[in-house]
Amino acid sequence: MRINKYIASCGIASRRKAEEIILDARVKVNGRIVEELSFNIDEENDIVEVDGKVVSLSEKYVYIVLNKPEGYITTVKDQFDRPSVLDLVSDIKERVYPIGRLDYETSGLLILTNDGDLTYKLTHPKHEVDKTYLALVKGTPSAEEARNFESGLQIEDYTTAPAKIKIVDINREKNYSKCEIKIHEGRNRQVRKMCRAINHPVLRLRRVAMGNIGLKGVEVGKYRHLTKEEVEYLK
Ligand code: URA
Repeated sequence: MRINKYIASCGIASRRKAEEIILDARVKVNGRIVEELSFNIDEENDIVEVDGKVVSLSEKYVYIVLNKPEGYITTVKDQFDRPSVLDLVSDIKERVYPIGRLDYETSGLLILTNDGDLTYKLTHPKHEVDKTYLALVKGTPSAEEARNFESGLQIEDYTTAPAKIKIVDINREKNYSKCEIKIHEGRNRQVRKMCRAINHPVLRLRRVAMGNIGLKGVEVGKYRHLTKEEVEYLK
């Protein structure tokens, strides 16, 4: 089996991420660093290590949904030593990682797993699971701005796919409104960029659902395991 597929199948990362891990010289096979993506693993006999830990195909899959607080990164670590969501799931012995990302300042629903195939599928641009956000935005979008938001906005070098925005509350005194936003793409800081593009920058952002998976009963900073039905639904 190709080395990147092997690492994804062990539940270490998605296939794309596995390639980065290999190119970063973090993988050893039988004690030797392997950086060639074309390398084939002998599943019966080779000993494969990632960051010094032996990995194998027999790990059990784990799927959890975390209620991410603001002020946490969704990568393992960064140059500023900011807290990571992985600190909040450190009691899980399998090596889980987030599907997609949420910004440091964004709170809410984040799914973590060690199932590389599911990660690959859900982060593929064609995958159409709606993500629902509650955003506090400056001012109140007009009907025309909402139409523009929904029909597609030119952002940097791309046009956004159809999205939805619904105003759920207006605070005229403080000059902000609460909007429910649904998008199925997952580009970097996309909701923030879309709101800015219609001149209503985001003040606070929270993801509340992915498809029909929600956070009911999960306190901020805590997680729950997905049910079998929820995992089937995502697959
Ligand atoms: N869109 C954003 O702008 N930020 C997030 O964290 C998620 C979606």
